[in-house]
Amino acid sequence: MARYTGPVCRLCRREKMKLFLKGPKCDSMKCPIERRPYPPGEHGRDRMRQGSEYLTQLREKQKARRIYGVFEKQFRNLYEEANRQTGITGENLLRMLELRLDNVAFRAGWGASRAQARQLVRHGHVMVNGKRVTIPSYRLRKGEVVSLRPKARQMIVVRHNLDTLDRQVPAWLEGGADGHEVTVRELPLRDHIDVPVRESLIVELYSK
Ligand code: SF4
Repeated sequence: MARYTGPVCRLCRREKMKLFLKGPKCDSMKCPIERRPYPPGEHGRDRMRQGSEYLTQLREKQKARRIYGVFEKQFRNLYEEANRQTGITGENLLRMLELRLDNVAFRAGWGASRAQARQLVRHGHVMVNGKRVTIPSYRLRKGEVVSLRPKARQMIVVRHNLDTLDRQVPAWLEGGADGHEVTVRELPLRDHIDVPVRESLIVELYSK
């Protein structure tokens, strides 16, 4: 199960916007986007190329991948699946990304970032319908209940996140058990998903 382990702030700088990959640092003045708001690397401050159509589409796709922490192969497979489904392909794609178990653990406020939520899943702290599930990409279905294992509820990091993040559970989820449980009330619609991604550009890129 692969995940990106390199420096993440440079990913935000490449996209020229905050992707909130780090938790508390993202809201502080230490965020490199505030201090170095230009692309990373030796030539980051050089004159920018004129943005081609391809470049715009590529950046949008990379942004979505980086926000959700998904590698190209898996992302492409998700797109193919979204394309086979009825409805708008871009919206199908975002819905599938939102329904990932690590993302739901993040939305529930258990992890300060999706990476931290993913670690909670990988380390066996999260249950689906009362059974431990350690697969971050597990796709939740309507009606499934995601909860923290009793031991995880006492973890300092989880308690700290629940106390300080003050993250609102989105409308398609229903919180319970003092914030230690969420139920998928309905499948998320585009309006429910607050990620700054223009999914139609991703579809244009892949459907070339
Ligand atoms: Fe991105 Fe957060 Fe790093 Fe800022 S601190 S560049 S928002 S990951």
